[in-house]
Amino acid sequence: MTIKLDSRIPPGPVPQKWEYAKSHYKLVNPANKRKYEIIVVGAGLAGASAAATLGELGYNVKCFVYHDSPRRAHSIAAQGGINAAKNYRNDGDSVYRLFYDTIKGGDYRAREANVHRLAELSVNIIDQAVAQGVPFAREYGGALENRSFGGVQVSRTFYARGQTGQQLLLGAFQALERQIALGTVKQYNRYEMLDLVVVDGHAKGIITRNLVTGKIETHAADAVVLGTGGYVNVFYLSTNAKASNATAIWRAHKRGAAFANACYTQIHPTCIPQSGDFQSKLTLMSESLRNDGRIWVPKAQGDKRSPKDIPESERDYYLERKYPSFGNLAPRDIASRAAKEACDDGRGIGPSGRGVYLDFADAIQRLGRKTIEERYGNLFEMYHDITAEDPYELPMRIYPAPHYSMGGLWVDYNLMSTVPGLYVIGEANFSDHGANRLGASALMQGLADGYFVLPVTIGDYLAGEFGKKVPATHPAFAEAETAVRQRVAKLLDAKGTRSVDSYHRELGGIMWDYCGMARSAEGLKKALGMVRDLKDKYWRDVRVLGGGEEPNQALEKAGRVADFFELAELMCIDALHREESAGGHFRVEYQTPDGEAQRDDENFTYVGAWEHKGEGNEPVLHKEPLVYEEVKLATRSYK
Ligand SMILES: Cc1cc2nc3c(=O)[nH]c(=O)nc-3n(C[C@H](O)[C@H](O)[C@H](O)COP(=O)(O)OP(=O)(O)OC[C@H]3O[C@@H](n4cnc5c(N)ncnc54)[C@H](O)[C@@H]3O)c2cc1C
Repeated sequence: MTIKLDSRIPPGPVPQKWEYAKSHYKLVNPANKRKYEIIVVGAGLAGASAAATLGELGYNVKCFVYHDSPRRAHSIAAQGGINAAKNYRNDGDSVYRLFYDTIKGGDYRAREANVHRLAELSVNIIDQAVAQGVPFAREYGGALENRSFGGVQVSRTFYARGQTGQQLLLGAFQALERQIALGTVKQYNRYEMLDLVVVDGHAKGIITRNLVTGKIETHAADAVVLGTGGYVNVFYLSTNAKASNATAIWRAHKRGAAFANACYTQIHPTCIPQSGDFQSKLTLMSESLRNDGRIWVPKAQGDKRSPKDIPESERDYYLERKYPSFGNLAPRDIASRAAKEACDDGRGIGPSGRGVYLDFADAIQRLGRKTIEERYGNLFEMYHDITAEDPYELPMRIYPAPHYSMGGLWVDYNLMSTVPGLYVIGEANFSDHGANRLGASALMQGLADGYFVLPVTIGDYLAGEFGKKVPATHPAFAEAETAVRQRVAKLLDAKGTRSVDSYHRELGGIMWDYCGMARSAEGLKKALGMVRDLKDKYWRDVRVLGGGEEPNQALEKAGRVADFFELAELMCIDALHREESAGGHFRVEYQTPDGEAQRDDENFTYVGAWEHKGEGNEPVLHKEPLVYEEVKLATRSYK
């Protein structure tokens, strides 16, 4: 099978494409919707909003999550906010500006048509969430409050203290619960999707493992939707929930879904620094803190004085110095690299020297402690609990950490992958953020996909599938089920010497060192060899205790880490082939004299989508050219 990339971008000017598309999609008659079954895997913001909306439309939905409740999805961790071009502040915002900021923020490596649609829908999301009762912060007069995030010069981020994801997820969850009660959605908690079933080239079902009983089951449907989140846990240490993994998208990739821009991962500048080798998780300090916090390091190398003893004249507020227009709100990729540069220069702070200060002293003096507490209280508490340092008294210590994956399964304008009938939404797809995502745009994208885009576009496919149901007795289901059983057995039978976690930690270290914040051809080639060697050893030597027919967390992790190994290879291959720097992909060979990312628009203005060619074979690259009609390609500058 050879993949064909058809982005199905509607005709007409960019701002009118979505309107055109909606008016021309095929429709499914309301009375026929209940004759269709749709599988939704994932109930984070993307999956829950999609499943609830599809149920509301009248489709029969089966929703699978490996969590014990949709409320535990990683989306609940989102802190700072969600963007929307409402222009409540009257500070010059517009749909066009949000669209432009996102294209520029992504370093001109995203598809214009999708991003414009996202900006248009951003305003509907806020209305939807408010109608659900999401308690967004309000100004004294009652209007919804806004703050700023990186890479923009307006205030368009709506928030609920530092718990925006949680509140939005509760809104989506109650919409989902309503459909569960009405019987349109059947919820399967503690089920892990372990394979996709493809019949005559179309996605027709999934294979799951019941994580309580260990039972492996088949489920048939007319279409499958993956809202299974991002993959930066490939780095082992990240800000993501420990359980977040790439298995669903990776299995789908191996069944024919192209994987796009695998090397585009985001390293977030403001996380609590790692404090030792024992650690299994890193904690984000929301970007919203950069509205009021100022980032600095001592001017002198190796300065070990307490921050309180370092006078103003001996501090380097390096973001304000290097990027005066955007200052502390420079985009994440740029702020992360600047922090690394300061630490590489010997000016890092804290025990490891890999840290910079995020200081609120000025803001507390200007606004008072109470205001800072109201804006960020829970984040300050979290920081205090983890570090035993009081950020009201001493600046926070922060350092970049893996946070988000811009890459993911390739989707067309309708959010359909290269496997017809397989849709991918939220962080799991590659769609809207190019080579770098701007803060507060992931929640916007997940909810735009789930509430507004997918429920419309999926009808266009389903209308043509009427009467083409494939039962779970089709041999393709038995074949996929057997493959899953064999894989589970192989992991259990390895009976080696080392734990899954020890391998995962080692893999993460390789990826961080060679495919993290800075990459080079030499390092990536080395990493490829190391990942492949470690993967071979893993399959021979991993030790998974317990059995398959029982709850077994080691077995769950073992399967996920096996997939991370293969994904890590693809990330290195993708990073090696992209001989330019763009956004989060910083190739040290391609930088401007002042150390900024240097794109090569002539040769790399495309989405790189990889086709799996079977175990042991090199993947094949397909290119979707990126054509800019509205925005002119330009060197990104935040100075
Ligand atoms: C600490 C933190 C703070 C953040 N803050 C913000 C913010 O302020 N603003 C913003 O815009 N973005 C923020 N982000 C990013 C944002 O939270 C995520 O990108 C977004 O929530 C992803 O949502 P999702 O629905 O795509 O996936 P998730 O929320 O990760 O949900 C994945 C779902 O898929 C299920 N699943 C996965 N694999 C399988 C499988 N194989 N079988 C069955 N089920 C499966 C899971 O059970 C879960 O229900 C933050 C991220 C982090 C880490």
